[in-house]
Amino acid sequence: MSAFNEERVLSVHHWTDTLFTFTTTRDQSLRFSNGHFTMIGLRVNDKPLLRAYSIVSPNHDEHLEFLSIKVQDGPLTSRLQHIKVGDTVIVGRKPTGTLLIDYLLPGKRLYMLSTGTGLAPFMSIIRDPATYEQFEQVVLVHGVRQVNELAYQDLIVNELPQHEFLGEMISKQLLYYPTVTREAYRNTGRVTDLLESGKLMADLNLPALNPVEDRVMICGSPGMLKDLKRMLEERGFKEGNTVRQGDFVIERAFAEQ
Ligand SMILES: Cc1cc2nc3c(=O)[nH]c(=O)nc-3n(C[C@H](O)[C@H](O)[C@H](O)COP(=O)(O)OP(=O)(O)OC[C@H]3O[C@@H](n4cnc5c(N)ncnc54)[C@H](O)[C@@H]3O)c2cc1C
Repeated sequence: MSAFNEERVLSVHHWTDTLFTFTTTRDQSLRFSNGHFTMIGLRVNDKPLLRAYSIVSPNHDEHLEFLSIKVQDGPLTSRLQHIKVGDTVIVGRKPTGTLLIDYLLPGKRLYMLSTGTGLAPFMSIIRDPATYEQFEQVVLVHGVRQVNELAYQDLIVNELPQHEFLGEMISKQLLYYPTVTREAYRNTGRVTDLLESGKLMADLNLPALNPVEDRVMICGSPGMLKDLKRMLEERGFKEGNTVRQGDFVIERAFAEQ
């Protein structure tokens, strides 16, 4: 059996000139956990051109959804940004990754810290009922440069609290904290600084970050991951992975060249 499925594009939405979202059909045999990423791509000169992508859609959805950057000279995204409804996208059959609630020790509060497309895996996790069964409070932080890069804001703020099955849990337990670095907005500043200064917790009326109650997932640039990992370790948090549960887990939103 091939390592890939060929899926049909069902919708495309461009958030900005550097960010877009698309949905595809989903092969019924594709299994994944919320928070996983998989290899996806296009056939170019008869060869698959693939990159790692977090799955935005929750695993109970019948379709797949992805959130993508547009890198001007990027081998994949210079092409992928032009996909249209009906086109074919290749989707790897072996999703994997470390951003799973299963890899965290039990705790009271789950922080999901993201920048840019690092939001993608958390869109899946905030639509998983298990997240709300395991944690009393679920804090989603999304840092971007400009306000229009706050992808899925309307879904998070307006649609999900009305969701037929998840609405009540989301309304009571999910705290969403969008922050912008290069424009005026109600929350501004880098995620790292907001955590270091404690402003994020103060704004949300939460206690100081501590490894007794808090569990953390991080998905962002390699630089952001390095800074936050150091900050958490200084506060006594231990990193978890696919074989050992911990107080925090991390995943790169992209690799630096
Ligand atoms: C575990 C993992 C999960 C990923 N999930 C996603 C995802 O959900 N959505 C997504 O768009 N990308 C994601 N990526 C990045 C993705 O794999 C590709 O790098 C991206 O699609 C660009 O591909 P490319 O061939 O056009 O350019 P590449 O040659 O892959 O990248 C060129 C350069 O562009 C920059 N870059 C690449 N991706 C990003 C990004 N997402 N944000 C900001 N700068 C970037 C980096 O500086 C990189 O060196 C993920 C990467 C990893 C390792």
